[in-house]
Amino acid sequence: MNVSKPLLNIKKIEKTRINQVDFNNLAFGKNYSDHMMYCDYVDGEWQTPQIVPYGPMEYAPSAKVFHYGQAVFEGMKAFKDDNGEVHLFRPEQNFERINKSSKRLAIPEFPKDFFFESLETLLQLDTDWIKAGQGNSLYIRPFVIATEEGVAASPSDQYRFMIITCPAQAYYSQPVKVIFAQEYSRSADGGVGYAKAAGNYGAQFYPTNLAKEKGYQQVIWTDAKSHNYLEEAGTMNIFFRIGDKLLTAPTNDRILDGVSRKSVIQLAKDNGIEIEIAPVEVKRIVEAARKGELKEIFGTGTAATIAKVIGFEHDGVYRDLPEVESPYSDFMKKSLQDIQYNRAEDKHGWLHKV
Ligand code: PMP
Repeated sequence: MNVSKPLLNIKKIEKTRINQVDFNNLAFGKNYSDHMMYCDYVDGEWQTPQIVPYGPMEYAPSAKVFHYGQAVFEGMKAFKDDNGEVHLFRPEQNFERINKSSKRLAIPEFPKDFFFESLETLLQLDTDWIKAGQGNSLYIRPFVIATEEGVAASPSDQYRFMIITCPAQAYYSQPVKVIFAQEYSRSADGGVGYAKAAGNYGAQFYPTNLAKEKGYQQVIWTDAKSHNYLEEAGTMNIFFRIGDKLLTAPTNDRILDGVSRKSVIQLAKDNGIEIEIAPVEVKRIVEAARKGELKEIFGTGTAATIAKVIGFEHDGVYRDLPEVESPYSDFMKKSLQDIQYNRAEDKHGWLHKV
């Protein structure tokens, strides 16, 4: 008999942990909601996804992820609107991107119906963890790890795809000071910069710590060959405003194709803001700052939404950015959030109701 497999198995928690969480003082990534999803790849196939209580899992010490970093992840958010309805923001983009990242790391792609069915079920089960109100959201972390035992340096033949979620308030909400990279690099031509590969992030910690010791919260990465072009921040794409024009680098194999970046570009176009998508020369930005024409720098990313930069260092010289009236960063943040919280017309169909 040909019995089709159920799309999901669910084991619910016995008792929620939600009362242990202070939703007014959330440290990002410290509290995880009641349930999580995992799905194993064995014998050349993704098995039935499992929703289970959030908790530790066991892996063999020789599992390949621990030795070769064969792992990719995503970051996305769910928002609760003023009527208590939950929406994901452009989730197909994250789904496509995790598979693009997986492909680069020789990890098998994950099926779309498994992804959406399990994600929506998780959000329905843990809906109380999603708080309405400005700045509140549920951060969603899908990821895949190589679980096959064995230290041979070759792709794993077993994987685990997982989704964990955590309540979040605005992250990096403080304006940041940044330093333009002149020594270290985040990614290289032909490399994995465009993928959300775990190792891309681990490799940034040391140079970012050096920047922090000098008083900078973020490094703005430049191209590895010349350090003459500004590319992106550690977990954000980056925009510059010279006069009334916005500039941002085009995506390529070194830069992550950010969902917030493409949304900001679309919002600029919708609102008649001139936008130049072309390599951003360090010299041009420094020169514009010197002449007082550099009005703003801001980062865009799911975690932070928009992060304002208040000053930057390059070649040992620190420059403050001016305070401007009606900054584009405020306009972009409000426009994005109005759509995310379902308070504005969603004319591009970016919301996905759960
Ligand atoms: N660049 C990098 C390196 C990132 O990790 C992220 C976060 N995903 C971004 C940019 C911003 O991407 P998104 O807007 O899709 O969150």
